[in-house]
Amino acid sequence: MRYTSTRSAQVLTSAEAISRGIAADGGLFVPENFPAVSPVLAEELVSLPYAGRAEKILEKYLTDFSAEEIRSCVKNAYTGTFENEEPAPLRKVSDKMYLLELWHGPTCAFKDLALQILPHLLTASVSKTSPGKTIVILVATSGDTGKAALEGFADVKDTRIVVFFPRDGVSDMQKLQMVTQTGKNVAVCGIEGNFDDAQTGVKAIFADRAMRKFLAEKNMDFSSANSINFGRLVPQIVYYVSAWCDLLKRGELRKGETFNVCVPTGNFGNILAAWYARRMGVPVGKFLCASNANKVLTDFIRTGVYDKNREFYTTTSPSMDILVSSNLERLLYHLHDGDFNMIASLMDQLKKEGKFVVSPRVLAALQQDFYGGFATDEEAKKAIGRTFREKKYLCDTHTAVAVDVYEKYVRETGDDRPCVIASTASPFKFAPAVLSAIDDCPLPEDGFAAAERLSSLSGMKIPSPLETLRTKKVLHKDSVRKEEMADFIRRTLA
Ligand SMILES: *Cc1c(COP(=O)(O)O)cnc(C)c1O
Repeated sequence: MRYTSTRSAQVLTSAEAISRGIAADGGLFVPENFPAVSPVLAEELVSLPYAGRAEKILEKYLTDFSAEEIRSCVKNAYTGTFENEEPAPLRKVSDKMYLLELWHGPTCAFKDLALQILPHLLTASVSKTSPGKTIVILVATSGDTGKAALEGFADVKDTRIVVFFPRDGVSDMQKLQMVTQTGKNVAVCGIEGNFDDAQTGVKAIFADRAMRKFLAEKNMDFSSANSINFGRLVPQIVYYVSAWCDLLKRGELRKGETFNVCVPTGNFGNILAAWYARRMGVPVGKFLCASNANKVLTDFIRTGVYDKNREFYTTTSPSMDILVSSNLERLLYHLHDGDFNMIASLMDQLKKEGKFVVSPRVLAALQQDFYGGFATDEEAKKAIGRTFREKKYLCDTHTAVAVDVYEKYVRETGDDRPCVIASTASPFKFAPAVLSAIDDCPLPEDGFAAAERLSSLSGMKIPSPLETLRTKKVLHKDSVRKEEMADFIRRTLA
């Protein structure tokens, strides 16, 4: 398997793509082609537990890793780190509706599935490409990535990690999770701005020559734990393949039958992984791309015009409050049949004008695969209420956006194939908002009181990683303006 950039001709190994994170031309690394899940392999996968499925899929993409390396990465990531032995259980909630629960890891959101393994993939990659180097992970987070990356990288040898989050754009629980993070190699910093400011700042630092030089002198180099790193995408493909295997195994789907996938989307990483799974042969019909009020993707899928010049909303699903969905670049690359000049030009327009338009041909291909829909906070709240009352399932605010969009899709199109909905966070992570959707009582003051009330109403236990936050010490109090991010990094690494 070889990898290339979305913006120029390059040939890289997977270890190179993972250790660099982002291409020097600003593009993202993509596989040159997609390995197939043959019928024989599919049969084998069905019989394996999650870790076994992960090994088989990873082997297909990381052909420059030895089987032993992959086995060890998978073992470190998924043994003893998740609540269940199965990190991605598929829950049947109604006749055709399945929730793929991706929040049983150490930070209670789906990003653990990738970020528990990325540090191992990354250190293995660096040991091949530049042995002895210390890797500095730079993260811009809308809430969940930051904590998941901190958990994954804390005290991992030969790595440092610096996380920036929008100071006023994450939930109390998310913020507390980050500012209490322990580890000798971690730094956490709030910024005065929104997620896009943080992400733009991080991208600029990656591209800054002076900064690169500063690091090189210390035998350090940057990499990324954001979903722009290909090492995060591969482990996400695994759980869609795994969900399909579970449907087959339980006889809910017959061979050759298709199912739909619905994903609450922000940076487009999670849903892209599902699309990659289909490129490998997983029989997905439609991909339902669910957005909150920041519905730039809904509009794009419906019109072919991507326009981020619009009001930015802070919603109850903060991990989806995004106007520049980085991973869309990868999909565009594939839909343009690898025309990297075209992608470079579209991305340049996005940077300069905040907007680009795709051709009618590309729009048709996009709409063939994707349905775009959105839910406002009010609609998501109602979805939480009715799913809890009617289906006895308590979903978080992000998952609720997907549930609402799924139901709208079925009403609009009549397409009632089985649908796997990504359940991306524990409801306890966003307890006040979730509670207000199922309870008429006045809201408790703080997140913990809300979590307790939620627990007593639902009969679900508060996940222990959240429960124990209450008594943890705040270790990180820094906050900077977005222009000061580079200085913060210099200070941290000095
Ligand atoms: C990150 C996140 C999302 C969005 O996922 P993308 O890969 O950025 O599209 C949705 N829900 C939750 C809970 C998240 O943490």
